Amino acid sequence: MKKFDVAIAGGGVIGGAIALEIARAGLRVAVFDRQQTGQEASWASAGILSPAPENPGMVAMVPLGKASLALYPEFVAQVEEISGMNTGFRPKGTLEALFSHDTKAELSTIIALHHGLGLKAEPLRAEDARELEPALSEEVEAAVLRPEEASIDNRLLTAAILEAANRSGAEIFPANGAKAIWRGGNRCAGLLLQDEKVEARWTVIAARCFSATIEGIAPYTPVRPAKGQMAALRADDVTIERVLWSEKIYLVPRNDGRIVAGATLEHAGFDKRVTAGGIQKILSAAIDLAPGLANARIEETWAGLRPDSPDHLPILGPTDIEGLLVATGHFRSGILLTPITARLIREWITEQRVSVDWDRFSPLRFRAANSGTTKKMPA
Ligand SMILES: Cc1cc2nc3c(=O)[nH]c(=O)nc-3n(C[C@H](O)[C@H](O)[C@H](O)COP(=O)(O)OP(=O)(O)OC[C@H]3O[C@@H](n4cnc5c(N)ncnc54)[C@H](O)[C@@H]3O)c2cc1C
Repeated sequence: MKKFDVAIAGGGVIGGAIALEIARAGLRVAVFDRQQTGQEASWASAGILSPAPENPGMVAMVPLGKASLALYPEFVAQVEEISGMNTGFRPKGTLEALFSHDTKAELSTIIALHHGLGLKAEPLRAEDARELEPALSEEVEAAVLRPEEASIDNRLLTAAILEAANRSGAEIFPANGAKAIWRGGNRCAGLLLQDEKVEARWTVIAARCFSATIEGIAPYTPVRPAKGQMAALRADDVTIERVLWSEKIYLVPRNDGRIVAGATLEHAGFDKRVTAGGIQKILSAAIDLAPGLANARIEETWAGLRPDSPDHLPILGPTDIEGLLVATGHFRSGILLTPITARLIREWITEQRVSVDWDRFSPLRFRAANSGTTKKMPA
């Protein structure tokens, strides 16, 4: 029987980063994945690092997103140094293009909303936006520059995190999925794999929208998959420096010259097929935003599943089973929230306190909602 201080189910960016933090704190930690690590949502993502809320319901996540973004430069430096790998971090800001004919009102609303949340945002006239990003369409009427936002190559980042975790002492077991938590009374004693028990003082579930398939976890992780289709383009005569957004699309430049365009948002179960309609939507919005992309080569298309909780907020923290923690439901912001998630889980495990309030994201909130009882935090 394997024995660790901490056992993690799920080897994506979240499980990998938690393992790295825990290993660096000097604990024995292992990651168990049902397949090769780093091949799911963390691979499929766009890698935009933006704490700006997409809708009013996401405002509750802004402090967490800001805290995570602030950790990013140091986090990336550490991961790159330990792994010896590059992550394609681009702290160059993002630019949101507005096409509406009433941009004056729209612009002041967006700027006021951002400033109200303590997020930096600057209004730009169309000509100034095009001076920064000449690829932008002539139809753009105004823009918002968010200079503190960034992007990262999520595929490189995930691989580098897993390598750094491994080099720091974390053991990684691909093709070793968790079947159930190993429960003894009100305590979680580790994980049950297909043919083996893993004993651990702490167990962390970071298996995204598959978390609920691990027996004993479903009440804490009502996470459904939200499919996103993406395309990677390459255009010799189009240069994009920052992440560009419009209402319909984002374009994310990579250091290798690719431009990642995405993404659809579909609730289609666990289906990951790329469809003609999905790619048509992406390409047509991409060309509207940056017309030079009409001549771009399509290098790759893919789809991934975002982990979407009922309130679209992450599910983070201890459960009412002693020793069991959850880190999932990061929806469209899992790459952004990676450093803070790893930090908070490590703090809870090593110090039983956290430096950023995470009660709002408790895995117990769904149980409380379902049973009508108030949530009770474990000691
Ligand atoms: C199209 C798309 C675009 C996105 N864009 C962005 C973006 O721009 N910015 C951003 O911040 N976020 C973005 N996201 C969200 C982000 O990618 C995810 O929130 C994040 O990758 C989740 O990481 P994870 O480690 O929880 O999941 P995953 O990377 O999916 O890792 C979970 C792992 O658990 C494993 N697993 C499953 N079942 C079991 C089991 N029973 N036992 C053990 N292991 C198991 C899986 O094999 C997998 O390796 C995007 C997502 C998608 C799909």
